[in-house]
Amino acid sequence: METPALLLHLFGRGITVSPLPDGNLLVKPAARLTDTDRDAIRAHKPALVDLLQRRSPTTAPGALPAEIRALIGLDDAEIERIGRYIEQARRHGFGLDDAEALADRLLLRDRLGADVRMCIECRHLERSGRCAAARSGRVVGAGRELQPVRAELHRCAGFAER
Ligand code: SF4
Repeated sequence: METPALLLHLFGRGITVSPLPDGNLLVKPAARLTDTDRDAIRAHKPALVDLLQRRSPTTAPGALPAEIRALIGLDDAEIERIGRYIEQARRHGFGLDDAEALADRLLLRDRLGADVRMCIECRHLERSGRCAAARSGRVVGAGRELQPVRAELHRCAGFAER
């Protein structure tokens, strides 16, 4: 993986990388890093430092350099949203690859302005996979033991933002 692609891959999962004055890198949140990420960061460290130090002085620490954002057509708000979507999917047991794919679909949804949601975005979805709103009779037509398809885009009157 090329260095810009590595940086994008990390940013897409909500991981920020910042150069430190001593030539090291600050990577946050470290808990989100896989062993593969750590190996890749180690292998690309000099190139990452160089790339990140070239960012505009007005760019916030840890932010993706403007030229890379432009390259992939993501703005800061979308980068933040991708990280949040991946986190929501991971919280409900999806592996990293699946979570990234779901985040892509949700970003596309946002760009199209479609009024549809996934249950993984809803605060009524429990870690067990059951819907708390259905259990209390708030999802019309659904049984009390509803275990909805978690990653299907749909309209639901019971949906509530986390
Ligand atoms: S209320 Fe609707 S959107 Fe929310 S978890 Fe239940 S079925 Fe899914």
